[in-house]
Amino acid sequence: MIPNSFDYKKATSVDEAISLLGDDVQILGGGHSLIPTLKLRLNAPGTLVDISKIESLKVIRDNENSITIGGGATHASIAADAALSEHAPMMTQAAKEIGDIQVRNFGTIGGSMAHADPAADWPAVLLACDANVVIQGKGGKREVDIDQFFKGFYETALADGEIITAVRIPKMASNRHSVYVKFKQPASRFAIVGCAVGIEMEGGVVKSARIGMTGVGESAYRAMNVEKALVGQALTAESIEAAVKNVTEGAEVMSDHYASQKYRTHLAHVYVKRALKMLM
Ligand SMILES: Cc1cc2nc3c(=O)[nH]c(=O)nc-3n(C[C@H](O)[C@H](O)[C@H](O)COP(=O)(O)OP(=O)(O)OC[C@H]3O[C@@H](n4cnc5c(N)ncnc54)[C@H](O)[C@@H]3O)c2cc1C
Repeated sequence: MIPNSFDYKKATSVDEAISLLGDDVQILGGGHSLIPTLKLRLNAPGTLVDISKIESLKVIRDNENSITIGGGATHASIAADAALSEHAPMMTQAAKEIGDIQVRNFGTIGGSMAHADPAADWPAVLLACDANVVIQGKGGKREVDIDQFFKGFYETALADGEIITAVRIPKMASNRHSVYVKFKQPASRFAIVGCAVGIEMEGGVVKSARIGMTGVGESAYRAMNVEKALVGQALTAESIEAAVKNVTEGAEVMSDHYASQKYRTHLAHVYVKRALKMLM
């Protein structure tokens, strides 16, 4: 289908982009979620502000205690980053599994987070990573803890006129010992169920765990009851089986033509167990 007509403005800096934002104006990142909504006429902004040529938003920086990923970094550039692969392998695994090569070359982490599709990969991984989101708008800069960022079905903590300028991934033991697995929708490769796990071990038992689930409910969430049940346990088939019993607790498990509620619930158990066993 053909979208409604709109004005197009290309920003060359974050400040310029922010100055162009306002009523009836929307940010264009990689366009791989926005353009389909325009073509389906689910969305019809008067103006698009293209941020895909802002170089500073594409940078991935290896700092002393964290890795900062620009909001405009593509999935492909994240997949290819050596520091992320060393300090947070679940990020690399997720990036490599998003869509196809065209989607990975255009789609951005900031666009995916702002869109907050319930089946997107980044939300689960960033929850497991304990990431921080750097946001900039007319009122200045602010940082939001990832636990406070995803608010519901396609809903986030972003206010109108704000841009995700970066995501900070802390360098910590649980991110180094991490994995992302998903059961993919075979055409799009969105997650029917996706699970990201980061675990810190000490003295043969789990010291801390963070588990992000996507595709299951209306928004990605942390499986906190599983995290709690694992702490203090050695990672064995038995302790994992016991810990994952309530992995969907608190989530309103979705049902659609790809997977019924019952099947998705089953998949959530299978995939969280699979991820944990990969870290044994
Ligand atoms: C065929 C296909 C397969 C896909 N498969 C997968 C998959 O397997 N897994 C997966 O997770 N995703 C998948 N996607 C989605 C893809 O990852 C998108 O690229 C991503 O969701 C959106 O990023 P974008 O940069 O394209 O954002 P856009 O489409 O440009 O924008 C999406 C929304 O975010 C806003 N926005 C964009 N950038 C920013 C920013 N920096 N700050 C604030 N707001 C911003 C826009 O205004 C818009 O509302 C797929 C998409 C397609 C078309």
